Formats: sequence, C-alpha cells, structure tokens
Amino acid sequence: MSKLWQARFFTTANHLRDLPTTPAPEIAFAGRSNAGKSTTINLLCNQKNLAFASKTPGRTQHINFFSIGGALVSQHRQDPTIVEEIKALLVDLPGYGYAEVSGSAKLHWQQLLGEYVKKREQLVALVLVMDSRRPFMPLDIQMLEWFAPTGKPIHCILTKADKLNRNESTNALRQANTVLSSYVDEHGLPFPFSVQLFSAPKRIGLEEADKKILSLLGLSEDSEPKTTSTSTSTSTSTSTSTSTSTSTAE
Ligand code: GDP
Repeated sequence: MSKLWQARFFTTANHLRDLPTTPAPEIAFAGRSNAGKSTTINLLCNQKNLAFASKTPGRTQHINFFSIGGALVSQHRQDPTIVEEIKALLVDLPGYGYAEVSGSAKLHWQQLLGEYVKKREQLVALVLVMDSRRPFMPLDIQMLEWFAPTGKPIHCILTKADKLNRNESTNALRQANTVLSSYVDEHGLPFPFSVQLFSAPKRIGLEEADKKILSLLGLSEDSEPKTTSTSTSTSTSTSTSTSTSTSTAE
C-alpha cells in the first residue's frame, strides 16, 4: 500500500495569498485539460474521485491540495487533518489549454500558476502530465520553462500509453528524452528531468510513477528513518546496531 493512498482533500486556493502555509514538501501536477491528470492522480492515490473534486464547477481554475499524513487514513474523511503532522502535499494545478478561456481568465491562470511554480518554496518537484500522442504542446513548454530555472526536478508522465503500439511507445519515450535533454543550464549541464509512459486502464507505469513521486517527496522507505523490527533484510552492510528505533511511521 503506497503512502499516496493516504491522500485526502486539504484545501483549495484561487489566489497566491490563499496558499497554505504548511511547511511540508509539495509536488505539483500540471497538464493540459484532458491530458489525464485527474485520472493519474486518482490512480496513484487509489481513489476514484479525489482529483475529480478539482473538476467541480468553480474549482477548475483553482489550485487544489491533497494531504499525505496528518490523519488516520483517507477513508476516515470526517477526522480533522492535523496540519502539523502533514508529511507532504500533492498539488493539483488547474488544467490549461481550454480553447474558450477568456483573456482575463488566461491572465489570472498565467499569474497564479507562473508565480506558484516559480516561487513556491515548499514545491520540491513538478509532475508534467501529457498525452503521449501529443506531448510538449506550447503551454507544456511554458510550464517547463517557468519551472526549469528553479533547478528542481520535473517528472513527465506520458499518459494513454495504451493507445500506442510498441514502436510508438518507444518513439514517444525517445522523443521526449530528446526534448528534455535539449535543455541545459548556463553551464551546459542537464536539468533534473525524467520521463515515463503511463496508462491508467492498463496500469502501465503505475509503480514507476509511485516510486518516483515518493522519492521526490522524501517519503520512500529508504529515505526515512528506519522503524522498529530487525526483520527484513535491507541489504546494506553496516547496519549491525538497528532494532531499537521508534515507531514513528504509520
Ligand atoms: P484531465 O483533464 O487532465 O484531468 O483528464 P482526465 O483525467 O479527466 O482524462 C481525460 C480523458 O482521458 C478521460 O476520458 C479519461 O478517461 C481518459 N484517460 C485518462 N487517462 C487515460 C489513459 O491512461 N488511457 C486512456 N485510454 N484514457 C485515459
């Protein structure tokens, strides 16, 4: 059971001033509308409707936050979330690329998202969700270029891989890697970008995405303090002491 399964709705923000002040690390999901962002978040969190809450009228242009930790388990929706105990936040950014979005709404989007991804200190990484059949559309590139200068990682998830045959999948991945490796910093060094294929119905790439996200959030098993039990063999050589530690993890 992944820690992402604990995700529960935390808060929503339509202005930078409304962003939560929680110090926990955040990972944000960005993507064009219809790219499969909600489906991907829901599958990762093993919940049917979590991210679709972001699609309710009036919330589509908001930034929605889901908390990990700080509550018993996601099913106990009535329990209050203990804010101090939140371990991480998943952030669902408004989908972009609606043809009919008006000029002023577009401006609001640009300001809100641009400022959020460029300046948010708690943000540790960006997940860029793109349809594997048409990745790197202009607004995806815009998002990438807003975030790249922060030097923080971007993980690209190419959705709907079930629509591609084997050759097309290989090509999609190769082309994405080519695009990503074309970005270099002022010293000619690559950015911490990565990419994978994903399919919700076929669960392709689910484990890979889960691992990557937990690792970026510092929530992987090996990035946490060891808990109790001497039992399982965590390979590494110099772990003779062990066994005492506390039971902080859930
Ligand atoms: P969002 O606007 O980015 O949140 O996109 P949704 O998650 O609502 O998905 C848009 C459409 O794509 C829906 O009809 C989903 O069922 C479909 N979809 C999402 N992910 C996949 C996938 O991996 N494979 C296929 N075949 N369809 C998908």
